[in-house]
Amino acid sequence: MLSSSLPSTFNEVSVRPSSTVSPDCGLLENLNFNGSRAFSDLEWQVSLGPRIPESNASNEFRNNLSEFLESLGYVVESQQHQHLNYNFTNVLAKYSSPHVQNNVKTVIFSAHYDSRNIADRDGNESLRSRPIDGANDGASGTAVLMELARLIPSMNLSYSVEFLWTDAEDQGQNFTLGSKAWAENLTFEEIDDIEAFILLDMVGDKDLKLHKISPGNASLYGQIELIAHRLGYGPNATCQTDFPQGILDYQKTTFVFDDHVHPHQLGIPSIDIMDPVYGDESYGGFGSLWHTTNDTIDNVSPEALTAVGRILEFGLQNKYFVNFYNDESTNDTQQNQTFDDNITTDAGTSAEKYILPSLISIGIFCLLVALFVYRLKKVRAR
Ligand SMILES: [Zn+2]
Repeated sequence: MLSSSLPSTFNEVSVRPSSTVSPDCGLLENLNFNGSRAFSDLEWQVSLGPRIPESNASNEFRNNLSEFLESLGYVVESQQHQHLNYNFTNVLAKYSSPHVQNNVKTVIFSAHYDSRNIADRDGNESLRSRPIDGANDGASGTAVLMELARLIPSMNLSYSVEFLWTDAEDQGQNFTLGSKAWAENLTFEEIDDIEAFILLDMVGDKDLKLHKISPGNASLYGQIELIAHRLGYGPNATCQTDFPQGILDYQKTTFVFDDHVHPHQLGIPSIDIMDPVYGDESYGGFGSLWHTTNDTIDNVSPEALTAVGRILEFGLQNKYFVNFYNDESTNDTQQNQTFDDNITTDAGTSAEKYILPSLISIGIFCLLVALFVYRLKKVRAR
């Protein structure tokens, strides 16, 4: 994961007043997301060694993942691409539920499975050319998706769910190549069929605090916020003790160039679920552990995976990610900070606000002048 600029934070009003939603702790009892099992999936990935594109570890990951998914009833497709000197492979898995209704769109969950080839942020200069474990940056999101994939077949959802594991998200100076290639190869029909794209990246931090990531769809972030409050994961969480301060810090928006940007640019409602502060925040970038040899298993936790997984499971069960649009759906976290810092949109909107009142004022002024001239002529005529 990378930012095309240093992360910036600013306050933003939420789409919905989710803070008014009361937590219902009993809801957690109906959820099956198993954080320990997800954590085993994370440990397994790290045990393979660095999952750099074209490496044996990368190959082994894909082979095992495909076998695992096929045993659950998924149709798995490996999509190979080439860009610059990289050969990379995305893994796509679809589950066709017999309960899916016609004309109901698809929800896509995504995470990158490659791990960074260089620890270029490491405090120790001699380690900066080494690859990282990627326990958080890569393995955490992938592990949550694997556990969700286990649960989908028995959820009897009335809509389709797909998983996209991207490759080559985090290699040297090349970022999000897998997601970009996937997005570029979508047909118009496929784009139209996607209801939501939900990316997970760096969700395993022991000290999990999710920020709103820009760009991203404000309505969809609103849904995550609603679910988190319902399940008692909001600020000052009330339903569980793992994260007494809650895991949401959605008052903060951080700009991150990540895999979700490519579907977002196609107009697909897309968000990135991420904690962009890994380790000591004062270190800069995305924290002292980010892109270092310390992105290891001892800095991530099953509790973090559980919290994120439960939010997604509850959202899937209760259709929070389909037909979620409201009147304010055109809102976008990008509205305050656009990709190319193009501020003409806001200026244009402001200008439009003043055109009509100005025209009315000019009209009234002209009418008054005409009346005055008319009366003057009448007086002279007398
Ligand atoms: Zn990264």
